Amino acid sequence: MTTAATDTVAHMSREEVERRAAEVLREYGLETVPIDPVVLADRLGIFVHNAKFSDDNLVGMIAKRGGTVTMLVNAADPPFRKRFTIAHELGHYFLHLQEDGDYVDNEVNLFRGSGDETTEVTPERRREIQANMFAAALLMPEDAVQQEWPRVRKIQGMARRFNVSEAVMGIRITQLGLA
Ligand SMILES: [Zn+2]
Repeated sequence: MTTAATDTVAHMSREEVERRAAEVLREYGLETVPIDPVVLADRLGIFVHNAKFSDDNLVGMIAKRGGTVTMLVNAADPPFRKRFTIAHELGHYFLHLQEDGDYVDNEVNLFRGSGDETTEVTPERRREIQANMFAAALLMPEDAVQQEWPRVRKIQGMARRFNVSEAVMGIRITQLGLA
């Protein structure tokens, strides 16, 4: 990755991440919710392996070597969590893996502490926040959430509709200023 590219990513705003996720959904023909991130990985030629990790805190990883991209997801995690992990790793793929490299994610990266991008966070943490923003935008596309919310009106129903946990749907609803 060149310095210029790194710099661009470092300063990527939530809006830009949202736009990128929406572009990806359009480009790869994922038009209806619930979005299946495994289908997207498939269309990208990325095979998602269910893996047994020796460290229980690990949730997933993605590695790019030459033309080959491999993704591992913790087989022991519940389906909601796996979907979010896969979407998060795809965030690294689209936003951060312009060249060979890898991201190894534990629970802290994905499920604890979130908040907005601030100037105080480390570049590593910023990339994790961006991958989480991408995952949320991918699984809960803004347009679809805006469209469904007036009809559904309940976090529980929305979570079911988008096949995500109520916790992440709650955050998304707040983030989009709907409740
Ligand atoms: Zn990550």
